[in-house]
Amino acid sequence: GAGTVHVTNPATGAKGKAYQAHTLDQAFAAAARAQAAQQQWRRTSFGDRAAVLRKTAELLRARAGDYAALMTEEMGKTVTDGRAEIEKCAFHCDWFAANAERILADEPVDLDGAGEAFVTFNPLGIVLAVMPWNFPFWQVIRFAAPALMAGNGALLKHASNVPGCALAIEQLLHDAGVPKDLFRTLLLPGKQIARLIEDKHIAAVTLTGSVAAGKSVAAAAGGVLKKCVLELGGSDAYLVLDDADPAAAAKVAAAARMVNGGQSCIAGKRFIVVQSLKERFERALVEAMQGYVMGDPGDENTKLGPMQSADARDDIHEQVEKSIANGAKLLLGGKKPDRPGAWYPATVLTDVASGQPAHDEEVFGPVAAIIVAEDEADAIRIANDSEFGLGSGVLTGDMGRGRRIARDELDAGMSFVNENVRSDPRMPFGGVKHSGYGRECAGYGIREFVNVKTVLLK
Ligand code: NDP
Repeated sequence: GAGTVHVTNPATGAKGKAYQAHTLDQAFAAAARAQAAQQQWRRTSFGDRAAVLRKTAELLRARAGDYAALMTEEMGKTVTDGRAEIEKCAFHCDWFAANAERILADEPVDLDGAGEAFVTFNPLGIVLAVMPWNFPFWQVIRFAAPALMAGNGALLKHASNVPGCALAIEQLLHDAGVPKDLFRTLLLPGKQIARLIEDKHIAAVTLTGSVAAGKSVAAAAGGVLKKCVLELGGSDAYLVLDDADPAAAAKVAAAARMVNGGQSCIAGKRFIVVQSLKERFERALVEAMQGYVMGDPGDENTKLGPMQSADARDDIHEQVEKSIANGAKLLLGGKKPDRPGAWYPATVLTDVASGQPAHDEEVFGPVAAIIVAEDEADAIRIANDSEFGLGSGVLTGDMGRGRRIARDELDAGMSFVNENVRSDPRMPFGGVKHSGYGRECAGYGIREFVNVKTVLLK
């Protein structure tokens, strides 16, 4: 039998709604129905699919307030961030509605008169999406919009702490005209997912989440030779070079660190400053981080709400304390507030070095780590000395230098100069090393879940 899923409000610690989970048998039945529905969907035109995606965008915009409130309730996102997330989802749907047909158009191959050949892009079938709680709508829509435009269907296994969001997304897509069986939400625990991956109606898997979840899903997909895209953690480094303006650099750094209260795979986590700028950057970063004051996530002026859960908060507090015990210096925050809920203040550590969790591990909360480098070469070495390779940044007054380091030196899927890393439907998104493989967004993303088919006629 299936259990129930309980929601806890991270701002208060109060228990919220309970949801009935699905059984594995229900999941298998949903997969079979989804595959049948996909056989129809794949034969619809790009124009018909685009109309559904445009309707999705319209409904997202109309319901932004409700969806933002739901995210606040389930995982503590501030309403302002929630509304921005919903608008981003709408923009993403509109972009793929407008561009999928062009990206997936047949590509002729020139065989010098030896026959006609072309490349065409057939959908793969049903994609199982395992998604995290940190951007409950964006993570799902980021994957679903291109997948649906390519003619695929999907089953969503969302994080267990956001069942309301998971069901709201299913309802949203159905209301917009996605056939009911083509997209289904399944409330299942992570440990049952390997069984579902093996089901013959599932063609491929995409996962956004932790390295541990990624390894387990990749192993299950590998065992049955199914395509898999992984978007895992990051410990994004930003180089703060000697020619940077400390205040401007600190502003970008704080914005990068504090995306979604620090709970983002592409949040800036390590700020590697060259020795000559150290004190000035420390002062500027503390000042910028002080602007993120904890408050009611339902208040639209709040810039820092609670973390997603008290357990996650306790984990990062332990990372901070261990870092200090091993030589880091606390410049701001670092104290667990004495109140119910998953609260943690904006925190700055400096003199962060190897052997400290703030250096060696991903810190998934509002904690900025300053690491000192001797010079540019040393800063690049430290940035790349990480198990992760998702985003990265260069903060500099010299565009030529920024371009060279971003383009040629940083081992990461994305490198931004004088700007915090963000995702955008127009730019491929993903990482290297333990940050995963495959890409989302843009042409590279939509082509992950297609059969790149060669056709020759003679
Ligand atoms: P998880 O990776 O555990 O959760 C992400 C998703 O994977 C959830 O739907 C979860 O389901 C599922 N899952 C977990 N384990 C398995 C498994 N063995 N097989 C199949 N599915 C699984 O992330 P957490 O929420 O626990 O966060 C912990 C860490 O993950 C963070 O500190 C951060 O490093 C990373 N993370 C990265 C994100 C990103 O955007 N790249 C987003 C969120 C987290 P269930 O909830 O039922 O366990």
